[in-house]
Amino acid sequence: MTKKIQCSAIIFDFDGTLADSMPFLATIGIQTMMKYYDVDYEEAAERYKSTTGLPYEHQVNLNFPGHEQNERAIEEFEKLKIDRIFEQRLFPDVVETLTKLNDMRISVFVSSSTYQPIIAEYFAKRELSTCFTEIVGYRPGFEKGKHHFEHIKAEHGIRLDDTLFVGDSLKDYERSKGYCRFVGIEGMFKEENFRREGHEGPVIQQVSELLAIIEPL
Ligand SMILES: [Mg+2]
Repeated sequence: MTKKIQCSAIIFDFDGTLADSMPFLATIGIQTMMKYYDVDYEEAAERYKSTTGLPYEHQVNLNFPGHEQNERAIEEFEKLKIDRIFEQRLFPDVVETLTKLNDMRISVFVSSSTYQPIIAEYFAKRELSTCFTEIVGYRPGFEKGKHHFEHIKAEHGIRLDDTLFVGDSLKDYERSKGYCRFVGIEGMFKEENFRREGHEGPVIQQVSELLAIIEPL
């Protein structure tokens, strides 16, 4: 058996990691690209997937730089998202996993490209807010990755060397580099995709698998 990873904090991505929201988000993200830009399903799906993990405004700006429809597309996506994001379920083992991590006295955070008030409300509705030391969401200029990790370190005295970031997108892995250790979770991307990006650490299929590979510091 391999040695367990010692950690004092775990930061979870939200969409596709804790919440089973990626099928919904990909559907509206692709649909919006097809509506506002001259792209077919295949191309929109590829453009969506290659930038997934980033806020939609970045996905659009990266794919269609300077396009006159960008503002309207972003606005429409965010409207479609807020209409139905609260119905998107958590993966079935999330509550149990969070509870166990709390029992182990590991600090638990969320770092997401979804707007802060939306994720805060999502967990408040499910009476799960107290599972987290802090829920850190997106606002322009304050993103998942460097900004969020440095904020968590400064605000909570967390050592990033002792922190794991768990995420489902290749962008999550990219943004963890140089800050904290990464655990990939399969969904939109498979283990081989993470490996191709250079990730050598764990890749899991569901969050509860974390419990077998970590131990509190
Ligand atoms: Mg995600």
